[in-house]
Amino acid sequence: MYATRTVFNPVSSPPPWSPGGHLAPGTILGNRYRIIALLGKGGMGEVYRADDLSLGQQVALKFLPADVASDPAAIERFRNEVRIARQVSHPNVCRVYDLGEADGRYFLSMEYVDGEDLGSLLRRIGRLPYDKALEISRKLCAGLAAAHEKGVLHRDLKPANVMLDLRGQVLLTDFGLAGLADHLQGGEVRNGTPAYMAPEQLSGKEVSARSDVYSLGLLLYEIFTGKRPFQADTLAAMARAQQENNPPSLTTLVKDLDPDVERVILRCLDPDPTRRPATPLSVAAGLPGGDALAAALAAGETPSPQMVIAAGEGNGLPPRVAIPVLVAILAALAFIYVRTAQNSLLDRLDTRGSIDVLNEHSREILRSLGYDGRPADQISEFAWNHAFLRYVSDHDKPAPDWPAVFSGRPSVLTFWYRQSVRPIDSAGFHNDLLTPGLVDSGDPPPIYSGMIDLRLDARGRLLRFEAIPPQHETGSVLSSQADWSALFRAAELDPAKFQTVEPRWNFLASSDARIAWNGVWPGTSRPLHVEGAALHGKPVAFELTGPWSEAWRMGGHEPSPRQQLTVLLLVVLLLGTCVTAALLARTNLKQNRGDRKGAFRLSLWMFGLLLLIWLCRSHMTASIALLGNFLLVNCTAIFSAVVVWTVYLAVEPYVRRRWPRTIISWTSVLSGRARDPVVGRDVLLGVVLGVVWRLTDHGLYGPWGMRDAPGLPAPEMLGGARVALGQCLMHVPYGIRNALLFFFLLFLGWVLIRNRWAACAVWIAIFALLSALGSREPLLDAFETIINFAVASVIILRFGLLSLAVGLYVVSTLAVLPCTLDFSAWYVPNCALGLATILALAAWSCYISMGGQKLGGKSLSRHDLFD
Ligand code: ADP
Ligand code: MG
Repeated sequence: MYATRTVFNPVSSPPPWSPGGHLAPGTILGNRYRIIALLGKGGMGEVYRADDLSLGQQVALKFLPADVASDPAAIERFRNEVRIARQVSHPNVCRVYDLGEADGRYFLSMEYVDGEDLGSLLRRIGRLPYDKALEISRKLCAGLAAAHEKGVLHRDLKPANVMLDLRGQVLLTDFGLAGLADHLQGGEVRNGTPAYMAPEQLSGKEVSARSDVYSLGLLLYEIFTGKRPFQADTLAAMARAQQENNPPSLTTLVKDLDPDVERVILRCLDPDPTRRPATPLSVAAGLPGGDALAAALAAGETPSPQMVIAAGEGNGLPPRVAIPVLVAILAALAFIYVRTAQNSLLDRLDTRGSIDVLNEHSREILRSLGYDGRPADQISEFAWNHAFLRYVSDHDKPAPDWPAVFSGRPSVLTFWYRQSVRPIDSAGFHNDLLTPGLVDSGDPPPIYSGMIDLRLDARGRLLRFEAIPPQHETGSVLSSQADWSALFRAAELDPAKFQTVEPRWNFLASSDARIAWNGVWPGTSRPLHVEGAALHGKPVAFELTGPWSEAWRMGGHEPSPRQQLTVLLLVVLLLGTCVTAALLARTNLKQNRGDRKGAFRLSLWMFGLLLLIWLCRSHMTASIALLGNFLLVNCTAIFSAVVVWTVYLAVEPYVRRRWPRTIISWTSVLSGRARDPVVGRDVLLGVVLGVVWRLTDHGLYGPWGMRDAPGLPAPEMLGGARVALGQCLMHVPYGIRNALLFFFLLFLGWVLIRNRWAACAVWIAIFALLSALGSREPLLDAFETIINFAVASVIILRFGLLSLAVGLYVVSTLAVLPCTLDFSAWYVPNCALGLATILALAAWSCYISMGGQKLGGKSLSRHDLFD
């Protein structure tokens, strides 16, 4: 049994009831409580102040009517009520401790409140001062909401059940007892005044949480005005008054009362329950300066997604803030563009033209080499010569002359072209979004006869040529001397300047003759080793190599034990996260806590984005592989969508409970309310964040004198429009994913440390350490990481997830843009495309953030950002 009975021993002492039915001070009940004084007599019975002798604490004991003891059903019901009431734990609710029995009488032990009840205070001083009234009202709402949250209705809210203690705290007493009192009295009309009951309660209809809201309205009415809205002597008269008369306006009773107070109280007093505020929290939110989230958090309740969204209402930006922010963004973007253009050294590159120009040139070279059959399929892309860049930064002393490196040979920008007599279908995955169908220079491997691999530098000079010869030969196979002059011409090398040396490199294309030369890259002193292979006198392979060239087919890339351990750890972490997330998501769904709609929309977005990226990035061929890839992309996109859905359902309810402010705009977007001003505000701030991040990147301020090569744009941004669009799009899921991840880590840190700023500091230290460990300039990188993550932490804690995701998108897009001051360059439209997405985000969010306010007009928002 839940309630322990305090058994009174009738043998050792006589019944303690005095002739008047009262307990005398000093009486000991059940060896446990010593009566101190009678506190009052109410609807059910007497309330005494007593000492709990075993715990040495003061308690209040409330006795039930004497005839209860003879009614086992009533006792059982009462026990149930106590069981539920005990679950409510809130600073504004008087705690119920236990049910006791002594000498055949049942009593309730509860928290003793040293103070006065509101009823007697109101009788003493009339209405409360405005500020005090507001404060008490909020606390009443919070306490009542906490009880409703646990499924406990009060049913007897009235001033006598509101205790004010000496510290000024407000406590609601007698939760759930009213219904019992009715039951105990056999359904007769209750004792006491029905003045605080809702119409449906008076007429004996179903009592709901909104009946408590009605009583709350009556209470607030009296707190603010000192008067009751309805005066009636009988129950019937009261019922009639409530239905027929509108309560007298509060402002006629108290002149300068805030109209918001009147509005919300009168809404509580609507005879129709469905038109009253749904919860005590909405009442608190409707009070002046009321904040639904603050109210929900005060009541210990998890705000609903709708409530989270509502908390953002009116939180846009006034034009006097939004417009200057937009202007500052534009100025910063212009600065970033120019700096990136100067710094990426893109303008220094010796280029021939776009991917189409180089494609045409490739076919010309192949024709000059005697390969003029029409290929069934071809594909090409730009690529950075990272091996060479690494070599330069390691070997050029004292520091690389980057501008000279970028304008000289070998070119840091290369171009690969593949053609085949059959569709070129890739076999593997080449990014962590698992986009299928991405062909690169090594996938599919060049094994089929008729496959040709060509590599040029950006100027169009040959770097590599390899053609897989027929697997089975017919006709004569007479060998002759191969002619290498066409290849030297294509590479723009002078054969006279090279000495023949022993060949060192083997090609996949089978050959019967090999040859090699040594020389230097024209215009430099860097060693150049040229290697050739021929079959029956026809060149099948030709390659320009330098000391940086890697024999990548040879392996030597086996992960070290440390790397293996890292991978293992990651896999364990990933699996652990997935399993934990799945379990948490299940719990949240079962308890109906998850934001299903938001999670579904998020996963739908993820799915759509991944499909779109596939459309932009994959190499479409007219083969069965296209169908295969389509099925595959559906699988991987659904997989990602399900992972996002699960993780979101697992984590979001906790964040909503603890840090609801950080997901206001995020939740708004996911609920299809992207046009809320608060969304505009947070997106605009996200753009600011991305721009600031980019501005603090040391890569923007000059590679000169630095070991590392300047930051390079993504090579895809130099290709066709479709691929460039795909490249830009990829930053959206990355932004979402990384924002969620960082947010999750922060939240985890908070769960462990219980201090959000300390959690930030810990993560920042970890990230700084990680970035310093793998860096050539540990101090600089650590410093940059600290700045970046500090900014991110402030943004996420102050403005939330959406700003962070947008910031990540903006900074990563800015970093891959091929900015140039040569506006005739073929990649300018691609750059403009990427830049346009950021400009559009900034302009749109600026507009939305002002919430349709006129330029120069007064801000409509009650609490704007800088209040
Ligand atoms: P009612 O039926 O009118 O609510 P009660 O039986 O609840 O009356 O209480 C009678 C009086 O006892 C109250 O007016 C209040 O002053 C006092 N009282 C009730 N509960 C407590 C308590 N937990 N601590 C101190 N005083 C209390
Ligand atoms: Mg009471």
